[in-house]
Amino acid sequence: MNSTARRDQTLGRRRQACLKKIVSALLLLVALPILLGVQRPPGLSDVDDVRTWSYADYTRVVIEVSGDVSLPEIGLVRLPANIQAGRPERLYLDIPDLWVGRRYESGIEVGDGLLKAVRLGQNTLRTTRLVLDLERYDHHRLFVLPSPARIVVDVYGERGAKSRIADEESGRLPAGLRRVHTVVVDAGHGGRDPGAVGVGDLREKDVNLTIARSLKKALLSRGFEVIMTRERDLTLTLEERTAVAESSGGDVFISIHANASEQKRARGIEVYTLDANHERHSLEVAARENGVPAARLDPLQRALAELQVGEVGAHSERLAAFVHDEVMRGVRERDQTLPDLGVKKGPFYVLFMSSMSSVLVETGFVTNKKDAKMLRSPLYQNMLGEKIALGVDRYRDQMEMGLARTEGGK
Ligand SMILES: [Zn+2]
Repeated sequence: MNSTARRDQTLGRRRQACLKKIVSALLLLVALPILLGVQRPPGLSDVDDVRTWSYADYTRVVIEVSGDVSLPEIGLVRLPANIQAGRPERLYLDIPDLWVGRRYESGIEVGDGLLKAVRLGQNTLRTTRLVLDLERYDHHRLFVLPSPARIVVDVYGERGAKSRIADEESGRLPAGLRRVHTVVVDAGHGGRDPGAVGVGDLREKDVNLTIARSLKKALLSRGFEVIMTRERDLTLTLEERTAVAESSGGDVFISIHANASEQKRARGIEVYTLDANHERHSLEVAARENGVPAARLDPLQRALAELQVGEVGAHSERLAAFVHDEVMRGVRERDQTLPDLGVKKGPFYVLFMSSMSSVLVETGFVTNKKDAKMLRSPLYQNMLGEKIALGVDRYRDQMEMGLARTEGGK
């Protein structure tokens, strides 16, 4: 057999194998609904992934879906335990226009003392039912995050005798009764997400990381323990970022960012805490930092409006005031003209997802020539790190004075 004939034969065999594959794929496609026992209606989103994170105070369940979801007004429904049927107390949620099939029918074990398991099943042809089997329950929060779309449920345990012991064992007390010791430093963006790109291609992710590093150094020298959400140029999801913060048992969360504007003249520093405020500028900054269009922030703002930001919110505002005060003092020593954009509130996901006192610092505009030049300078980066740390230090002092008063008053 000459080489051409041999090649033809090989090609023929390959074609045959390829054809076989196509046929079996087609067969599977036809058989799949039969295997699943139901016919999948068109136009539904899919459940892509289900993940859970266990923390001292709560368990987070994240359901990633392939398209937009809208949740029913009623939210999660609580069902009492059914001892006869051997079912624990549980929460359920019917999610319309979502397909899950039988993939998670047997459930995902959690068993962390708060949640027994997470189950997902096709309740009707167009509805997926999420069931959370509970062990301890106090309250929950439910919200939807975009790009990629995901449903987030945080389940908090009851504040009974049991959980107080658990708190003491883990050293985890409510924010107002905790010493300020561990600081989580979050360098915004990273990896595939450069953040804002400004003058001379100055990338926000790089600016954020260098300032975060100098902040870490300054905090360590003041006796704080420091946890970084990223130490290098790394892509992190919002959940990964907050998982680092929450599982480290941090007391304070500081997210470092740099600003950007279409107005090349815009410059200055601003410090944010979390709020559902509708201030136009905050909304634009939040939209950019969250990586979604401003219009998409509506559901988050609604969710925020329903939540009691409460004690943690008040602590965050105090922290923001100290950080802002110190940073502005440092900045003015170098540049009298740098605008003070103040302490503001905005709907930032990264602050929303954290359960500790949290602020977001916009360290300057990468899109402004003067700001960009300063942001590149190691002297300026160090000064910012030093001043933010000083702000955290003042916050620690004030919190501990409050603690001393509480303990003295016993
Ligand atoms: Zn940013």
